Amino acid sequence: MEMKLDSIRAAEATLLLSTYERNPILFVGGEGVHLVDEQGNKYLDLLSGIGVNALGYGHPAIVNSLAEQSRKLIHTSNLYFHEGQAKLALRLTEMTGLDRVFFANSGTEAWEAAMKTARAYAGLRSSEGHTLGTKFLALENSFHGRTFGSVSTTHKEKYREPFAPVVPGVEFVRFNDVDDLQAKFSSDVCAVLVEVIQGEGGIRPISPEFLATARKLTQESGSLLVADEIQSGMGRTGKWCAYQHYDIQPDITTLAKPLAGGLPLGAMVCSEEAARAIHAGMHGTTFGGGPLACAVAIAVIDAMRQEDLLVHINDVGGYFKETLRALASRQAVITDIRGMGLMLAAELNSADMAKLVVAKMLQRHILINRTSETVLRFLPPYILGRGDVDTTIAALDEILTEQKATAPEATSTMSSYQKRN
Ligand SMILES: *Cc1c(COP(=O)(O)O)cnc(C)c1O
Repeated sequence: MEMKLDSIRAAEATLLLSTYERNPILFVGGEGVHLVDEQGNKYLDLLSGIGVNALGYGHPAIVNSLAEQSRKLIHTSNLYFHEGQAKLALRLTEMTGLDRVFFANSGTEAWEAAMKTARAYAGLRSSEGHTLGTKFLALENSFHGRTFGSVSTTHKEKYREPFAPVVPGVEFVRFNDVDDLQAKFSSDVCAVLVEVIQGEGGIRPISPEFLATARKLTQESGSLLVADEIQSGMGRTGKWCAYQHYDIQPDITTLAKPLAGGLPLGAMVCSEEAARAIHAGMHGTTFGGGPLACAVAIAVIDAMRQEDLLVHINDVGGYFKETLRALASRQAVITDIRGMGLMLAAELNSADMAKLVVAKMLQRHILINRTSETVLRFLPPYILGRGDVDTTIAALDEILTEQKATAPEATSTMSSYQKRN
């Protein structure tokens, strides 16, 4: 049978920029925590479109708000008022503990807004006689997006180097190294930029000491602490924002991935004080915070509150982590289990093994991905059930046990490991 996938693949190969190495699957639908391919095969989705489809597929809150709002109004531009922005901003300020919101269309745009606000704030303070420099301190292993500002604060060289020169004035601090932070911090710094749990960097939580030090140093100098919660925010870790696990309030946070249940929407949320730096005309967007995306985001948040999903995320996430730990005690290739809520990872002892496990899981119709070479990442929809966790753990257990038994595979893993070293 001629599959649609083959012709689409051939067409894309000549028509699209070669930015992605896609898995050879054509998804045509989804329901709950499952995706469906063109042959009707169901896949258990533990990645949710990279942490986006928080309510899974076909959730009535999303479907209904989308249908209703699309009949009323899809776009107005930011030249006029519509009902959604203030309503959504009220929710985001309640959730983050911050005061004011700027809406964008993606994570990287929310991050650009945060960087621009920090630079503008430093300028404002300097004009008021309190000198602040223009330097950003970002963290090693960070990921903040692909536009120029964001990529400048992203640590991995392969993302930055082809596009050099990137935005100047960024220095990287060793992750969780309090001494390095103290050594590099000065009145030249306008903001310290962190992911509270590094996502692309391998699901690595920031240490309480490091975050507390960043908060203290920025507070003392009058500069800003900026927390990127694009992956970890909106309930993913069992609290609305991951920094709430640390009892630390940043001056700015950024949200995006799960914010509008699959529609593109980003938000930069900041303190009243930081917001003083931005006035009419300084920043903006044509599409950001449109009526459709806002209506769906409101529906997502209200559904999360009605369904008590934060409680569920803590419950099922705790169970998932516990069973991963138990699996790690049986399978020696698992060297670490990390994360909070439904932002979890299992680190393996080799990149080849991690790659193999992702491929074998896909054969079993379970979607996970590999980040930071050796890390299996789990970012499932918030509606994941304990039974889905059991299915996942059983599959991982079988795959890893098979691998132990197949000597040739183990040898090839070893030889490629030795080649690299
Ligand atoms: C995904 C991500 C971004 C970039 O978001 P895009 O919507 O892809 O631009 C930025 N920061 C973090 C922590 C992310 O996980």
